[in-house]
Amino acid sequence: MKGKTVALLLALLLLLPLAASAETELYVKKVDNLPENFIFGMDISSVIAEENSGVKYYGFDGQEQDLLKILADSGITHIRVRVWNHPYDAQGRGFGGGNCDIETALAIGKRAAKYGLKLIVDFHYSDFWADPGKQMVPLAWKDMNMEEKTEALYQFTKESLALLRDGGVDVAMVQVGNETNGGLCGETDWGKITRLMKAGIQAVRETCPDALASLHFTDPQNTGNYAWYAQTMAENGVDYDVFASSYYPYWHGDLDNLAAVLSQVAETYGKRVIVMETSWAYTGEDSDFSGNTISDESAVEKNYPYTVQGQVNSLRDIADTLVNRTKNAIGMVYWEGAWITVGGASREENSTLWEKYGSGWASSFASVYDPNDAGQYFGGSAVDNQAFFDPSGHPLESLKVFQLMRDGYGEAPETEQPEEAKTAGGEEAPSNYIRDPGFENGGEGWTFHDLRHADQLYVEDKKNDSLTGTKHAHFWSAAQNSVEFTLEQQVDGLPEGNFSFSISIMGGDAGEYEAYAFVKLNGETVATAPMKITSWNNWDTGTIPEFFHPAGADVTVGVYVKCQGKGAGAWGKIDDALLTPVQ
Ligand code: CA
Repeated sequence: MKGKTVALLLALLLLLPLAASAETELYVKKVDNLPENFIFGMDISSVIAEENSGVKYYGFDGQEQDLLKILADSGITHIRVRVWNHPYDAQGRGFGGGNCDIETALAIGKRAAKYGLKLIVDFHYSDFWADPGKQMVPLAWKDMNMEEKTEALYQFTKESLALLRDGGVDVAMVQVGNETNGGLCGETDWGKITRLMKAGIQAVRETCPDALASLHFTDPQNTGNYAWYAQTMAENGVDYDVFASSYYPYWHGDLDNLAAVLSQVAETYGKRVIVMETSWAYTGEDSDFSGNTISDESAVEKNYPYTVQGQVNSLRDIADTLVNRTKNAIGMVYWEGAWITVGGASREENSTLWEKYGSGWASSFASVYDPNDAGQYFGGSAVDNQAFFDPSGHPLESLKVFQLMRDGYGEAPETEQPEEAKTAGGEEAPSNYIRDPGFENGGEGWTFHDLRHADQLYVEDKKNDSLTGTKHAHFWSAAQNSVEFTLEQQVDGLPEGNFSFSISIMGGDAGEYEAYAFVKLNGETVATAPMKITSWNNWDTGTIPEFFHPAGADVTVGVYVKCQGKGAGAWGKIDDALLTPVQ
């Protein structure tokens, strides 16, 4: 803890000169043809919980200011808020993640309207987070049949939107569902999902006729994904205006692909398209003692550096792709750009605030509704390093990108984005010899060898537990001393030469354990690298920096795990193997 506090203080000190000098160094390449009415949105769903926890925000003049005004002054046009049906337990204690019910949306929407900002309403139709991994039905609708649930969703949408409308909120767009890749409201059958969507859209049309009705999906990188969703919507007669996509550059493929899959939907079905969620990190450091989605340790595809300039470049390139290379694109929305640390000097201090005000991603009280996920790994912000504000609430220079990309700003550095240039080069040899390295194809080429009798060993589809993409290899077992396995892959076609191998793990309740990455040549282990199992979202990468592969030798790479378990059952996730030539 002490080391971390020192690191935090150092980071704070380092930010001061950066903020002062960055103005002359920042470079923003102009986005040609940027329409006046292009949507630059910001999701700030957690803001009220943040403010209740003591967080303050400052303008570029150094004065404390309403976050909504700071954003309006920075070229943001729309505010996005998620809406959960009832994110509270029976005692009225909030589940966290901003405790985002309709009253919270109303309070944010009113402040937005005060500064001329429009609202994008994001109905999850759940009592807590809905995403590709889970679409849990609201507790109050649990025992309803389809008829009743459809009516309840219609009424809830209607009443919620009426409340916003009558409160003077400028509702510009309404999302019926959030990242509804495989479910909605507890239903997984597309006939039923689309029936629910139609009821929600009908409520939007009747209550806010000027608002755009939007459906939201993710994983644009999966071949054929968006074409299939759009076709399914058309076949089921769903009448919507905007096809929305999440696009996190470290998970969701490249910009060429994004432009192609969105343009296909726009052209085929005459829909408008939008990037409804994106973000990039300005630092690899955590500042609230709760692990982040991406950090220096995560082996994510790092398209840009984790710097203020990296944040600028990422956003500018997305805007350019949407405006100049995508059909019918109307805008982009940044996800939770103000969800910074609540400011305590320890995890314990912060945890008190997260629990009391709902300013962490989940509180312990969420366990009654979501025992398997939030109930076990509740904590703070996973995106404080992707915000537009430093840990003290002062804006980063990158917040100016929305205005500066209209005309361009600063001098182009001589070597612009070397990472990008590298990937654009020749492709004589693969950069990764592992088949299905991130388990996104269900674990093709991988084999589990169960050496005890673990209860669960399989490839799981759950984005929140994946290092990249949505899938990973999962293990869990209830009994002590029942976890021991290898997960390995025989690699074909590896030429003679020097290679490195790495693979990542996270997990918990391991008790006494042994875990390592290994390389075998002709069945003999020739190298290992230890891996740590600590807690949720704390990924550890085992790296074998170099081994020599003689021509013709059989090579097998993988991971060995053995856990005594703490009694609660050892569990873990394995993701992102990389076998790459060493020059
Ligand atoms: Ca954090």
